[in-house]
Amino acid sequence: MMRFIIILITAVFFAGCGKKSETVLNKTEHKIDSSVSVQKKITGNPYYSRTDTNIINVSDTEWKKILPDSIYQVARNKATEEAFTGKFWNSTGLGTYFCAVCGNKLFRSDSKFASTCGWPSFYETVRLNSVIYKEDRSIEEVRTEVLCGRCNSHLGHIFDDGPPPTGKRYCMNSIVLDFAADSEFKN
Ligand code: FE
Repeated sequence: MMRFIIILITAVFFAGCGKKSETVLNKTEHKIDSSVSVQKKITGNPYYSRTDTNIINVSDTEWKKILPDSIYQVARNKATEEAFTGKFWNSTGLGTYFCAVCGNKLFRSDSKFASTCGWPSFYETVRLNSVIYKEDRSIEEVRTEVLCGRCNSHLGHIFDDGPPPTGKRYCMNSIVLDFAADSEFKN
């Protein structure tokens, strides 16, 4: 009888572990899917350029055909990714952040700071025209929306609670950012 109880407890324990492993695996698969989507976007997106700074006017209908849906929903439908879930909210690598939709250079890692908000946060852009600003009254609080200065895609919002020297906090969605590490350009 005792042996049967031990076998039963062991079986229940391992069944529980299996379920946990499956949950972790799904999370990992989601991350892999996300990076694959970014690669697919870069190779299948005729508007993507990390050197061209000319403004482009592309319709949402066209973007819908080109972009992975997860990027489209944030970039063109102004959705917000859940806090603490994006790939860059706590990343610290040295490099450059680009618009994931069009390749426009947006931020250097030097201007990224650890924020408790759960989204990647920067205190300044690479250049003055990297982004444009728009009043956002979609919720009760009036906010300032930040859009890509080249393709007009939604990136996030800017707030006045950032660190020196600007005091600004560019609160961005990871999904609409691409990151290129400085180490990629070294021999
Ligand atoms: Fe862009």
